[in-house]
Formats: sequence, structure tokens, C-alpha cells
Amino acid sequence: MEEITKKAPNFIEQIISDDLVNRGYTRVHTRFPPEPNGYLHIGHAKSICLNFGLAKTYNGLCNLRFDDTNPLTEEDEYVQSIQEDIRWLGFDWGDRQYFTSDYFDQLYDWAVILIRKGKAYVCDMTADEVAAGRGTPTIPGKESPWRDRSVEENLDLFEQMKNGVYENGQKTLRARIDMASPNMHLRDPALYRIRKARHHRTGDKWCIYPMYDWAHGESDAIEGITHSVCTLEFEVHRPLYDWFVTQLEIDPRPKQIEFARLNLNYTIMSKRKLLQLVKEKHVEGWDDPRMPTLRGLRRRGYTPASIRNFCERVGVAKRENIIDVALLEFNVREDLNKIAPRVMAVLNPVKLVITNYPEGQVEQMDAINNPEDPGAGSRKIAFSRELYIEQDDFMEDPPKKYFRLSLGSEVRLRYGYLVTCNEVIKADDGSIKEIHCTYDPDSRGGNAPDGRKVKGTIHWVSAVENLQAEVRLYDRLFKDEDPNTLENFLDGLNPDSMNIVNGCILEKGLASAEPGTQYQFERLGYFCVDTVHSQPGKPVFNRTVGLRDTWSKVASKGNG
Ligand code: ATP
Ligand code: MG
Repeated sequence: MEEITKKAPNFIEQIISDDLVNRGYTRVHTRFPPEPNGYLHIGHAKSICLNFGLAKTYNGLCNLRFDDTNPLTEEDEYVQSIQEDIRWLGFDWGDRQYFTSDYFDQLYDWAVILIRKGKAYVCDMTADEVAAGRGTPTIPGKESPWRDRSVEENLDLFEQMKNGVYENGQKTLRARIDMASPNMHLRDPALYRIRKARHHRTGDKWCIYPMYDWAHGESDAIEGITHSVCTLEFEVHRPLYDWFVTQLEIDPRPKQIEFARLNLNYTIMSKRKLLQLVKEKHVEGWDDPRMPTLRGLRRRGYTPASIRNFCERVGVAKRENIIDVALLEFNVREDLNKIAPRVMAVLNPVKLVITNYPEGQVEQMDAINNPEDPGAGSRKIAFSRELYIEQDDFMEDPPKKYFRLSLGSEVRLRYGYLVTCNEVIKADDGSIKEIHCTYDPDSRGGNAPDGRKVKGTIHWVSAVENLQAEVRLYDRLFKDEDPNTLENFLDGLNPDSMNIVNGCILEKGLASAEPGTQYQFERLGYFCVDTVHSQPGKPVFNRTVGLRDTWSKVASKGNG
């Protein structure tokens, strides 16, 4: 699996290079900070590739940090899956796996320092009162009546909050900044709220939990993160991020840099909405092959390299944009083209009978496993008097330039022989029951003995030696190009996103195909053995992607 070569430095790399050359930085340390409240998706892959990639480029380190500050939505199941998915994608955090919850004591102590400095206070306003008094960017907010409590009183109340004296929502600890700031995030934001809930790691030890803005930058500081890369919506939080590290006199200071999140057309990436799809059973689960989760993509047949290449090609942008999902498909096609063995499979079979081929004879023909990879060798496939071909590959009365099989025409059966169709046998309802052909016995392997031109080549599978299997064809999960803009994103679901085709006829050798392996079904696309529904000797196949390749031109032009 080759990686594509890196492009010119992106804007984050330019900032980091400048920090190293001109600003006294001596090292680079990043982190990937998932909240364990769902499975990772392709957008997270972008962030993983970026953060681990920056560490690699600058000989630095990248931590894995579970940002677990909300006990209500977080679970250990997600922690496990996130670890597995990052490893699958090809990244390693060494022994640097951390949890924000490990820092709850330190964060508490730091909050006490802020109180001592008169920079934080316990506020008794309800969430509604705070919201009502927030003001707007042009109208200053109202100062809390509790803003001028003495340091002693604040220390006392904060400790009581920690000790569970108060109920959910009764009090918060707020930063004492500026209720008139044009940046709403600086209007005395909350640092702690009371949440009497069991945490998946700290159990019942805490009943106050830190807010994201407070926990995140300070966790960066604790871990010695130099560059804290996050998505664009946090740009307006940066002054608060900086305010906290300034108040705590943290040195050296971590630096927040924002980039545009990855958006894909026809795709939902909000974890909340993905969870809804799972809970309401619109899909089989987080690993449904139609899901944009790493689990889903993997089950669909995506390789880690194809996803890393995709992220590299997408690049790092400063402005929001929407990437065409076809670029993702291009990348998996490119990778599978190099590594996936070719096999023959007939999805919609119709029988072809070679009337001059000896009854009962079976020949083992040589078939090349991967023309892109000479080391992949060849295999034997059975050829017999009765075969299956694709219904689509025959037309009784074809239009011009139809090079597949038709009455009276000659076609090449790949790795087989040249056959000419003489007769069509029909069922009572008029449908085609059998296609009768004669073969040229001197054309073994598919070459005309006299050099005559035979344009069309079609695939086939023996009717006596084969495997019948279920094949699942997928279309986009959403028929709507931007389901995020719909009032109810479920309205954008594509009712035909999965088509289960039974009774497909495959090469017999596929009976032993291992779950998770990818193949190219010649002329049909790339397929992967499903890891959920397959049974020993009975593989079920997922179509990863078709063969049509609309992005190659774009990519070979350099794509940016
Ligand atoms: P939520 O949907 O719950 O707001 P999230 O998608 O931000 O959460 P996190 O677990 O907080 O999920 O994300 C972990 C990291 O991945 C964060 O640094 C976040 O910025 C990044 N990330 C999440 N979605 C994308 C995306 N679409 N593109 C790039 N980075 C992303
Ligand atoms: Mg988040």
C-alpha cells in the first residue's frame, strides 16, 4: 500500500515551522482529543491524520486524550472502539493515552487559584437567568448579583459544590471576565456545573464537572501540548483559551490553531445524528457499511491507506467547504486496484450453454489474480458446457456498438474461449431461459487462432463448479446532497441505499474468502467479505465501490 506523496506545507505547518525557527519553540507536541460519546467517523480521521501527521513531520509526539467531561453521554464502549479505530487507521500514541478525568483534581486546584485571584466566583443564577442576562454581541450582558462575593465565601461555596451540598443547576463556578465583551465567550463563562451523575471512570467521586473550555486548554497545558489543533468553531473560543492560560501563568503556553472541519456531501457527520440513525435502526449499527464511521467504512471495504490518502488529498483549509464524496471513492478505488485480487462473479445470472462443448467435461483455465501486481500469481477456474453470464451482457437485438453478446455475434469469455450465439431459449413468460452458443475449440484462453478481431469480453462462472452467495449493493445513505440543511435530516434518507442480491454466482474458490478481504469482481467493482453476516463457507459480500472512476483526471492534474 503506497502512500501518496505529500504536498507543499499547509498553513498549520507554516505556523509551526515559524514557531520553531523564529519563536523559540524547541519541540512539537499535538493531541487528538475525542469525546468518548460515539464512534469515530471520517471527519475524525481527518483530525487524526492531521495531528499524528504533524507530530511525525516535526519529529514530535501526539497524545490520545479522551475528553471525558460529560458523564451523561460517555461510555467505555466508545473508549475501546476509538482506540481500535485509531490503531486500525495506522497511528500509535505509544504510552501517551490520557483522560481529562485524570486531571479533575488539578483542574479543581487551578479553579481555586482563580478564585483566590478574584478571577472566578460562585454564581447562584439558574441557567435560564444566565441566558436571559447574556445580552447580544452589541448589547452588554448583565452582571451577576453574585459577582462580587468575597474570596472566602467563594472558596467555601465552591468546596460545598464539590461536596454535593447543592443540587444540579443550583450553582455554577464562573470566570470573572467581562460581561460587556463583544466576544460572548468572555462574558463570565461557566467553569463548573453541578451534575450528580456517575462518571465512567471516576465513578461517584465528583458531582461537579468542568466545562469544555476550561478543561480543554488546561489539559493541553498539563500534557505540555505545544499546538492544540481544533476545528473552526473554536476560533471564537480562543481568547478564552488564552485568558485561562494567562491567569494560571502557564509557561510555555499551548497555542490553539483552528482549521475547517471535513464536510462531505450526501453525508451526516454529527455524532448525535449518527447515534439517532443507530438507535432508530435506520442502519444496522455504527458499523453499517453505509455509515461514514471508520467502522462502517472498514466493513464496506475501505483500507486505512485509502482513508489516509483521502485526508492528505483533501488538505487543510482555513474556510468551511464541502468535499465531494466521490473523492473518497476515488481513493479506495485507487488503493484496491493495486491490492485486490480479481475474481469473476455474476450478480444477475442467465445460463449460457455451449452446445458443441463435450458434456461432463470441466477444464481448469488459468486466470491472472492481479494484472497490477505480477507477484499475485494466477489461479485455476472451472470452465464447463454450462456457464452463467450477466443478464446485462446479452441482448437479443442490440443497438450499434454493443460489443457484448447478441444473437449471431461472437464474444470472448475471459480466460475461456470465443463463443458465438446461435439461439435463445425462452420461458413461457418471454424471459430468456438459456442462451445457446458454439465455441471455437482452438481459442483456448480467449485468443482467436486466425487473429480475427473479437471486440467484446465478458465474465462468466461455471454452472457446475461455483459458489452461490448474497451480495449487498449500496447506494448513498442520503439522497439529499446536504442532509444537514433539512429540517429533519431523516427526510433525506435514501430508501434504496441497500440492495440485497441473493443467488449471485461466484467462483468456487471464494467459499473460503476470509471476512474483511477485498476483491475486484471483474467489470463490476470492488467487494469486501462482510464481517457480520458471513459464515464459514458462506461469505456475504459488500460492494465497496463501482469501477467507474470519475476522479482520476482531477487527481492526475495534481489536485491543488
Ligand atoms: P460533537 O459532534 O459531539 O460536537 P465532535 O465531532 O467535535 O463532537 P469530538 O469527539 O469532540 O467530536 O472530536 C474529536 C476531535 O475530532 C476534535 O478535535 C474535533 O475537532 C475533531 N473533529 C470532529 N469532527 C471533525 C470533522 N468533521 N473534521 C475534522 N475534524 C473533526
Ligand atoms: Mg467536540
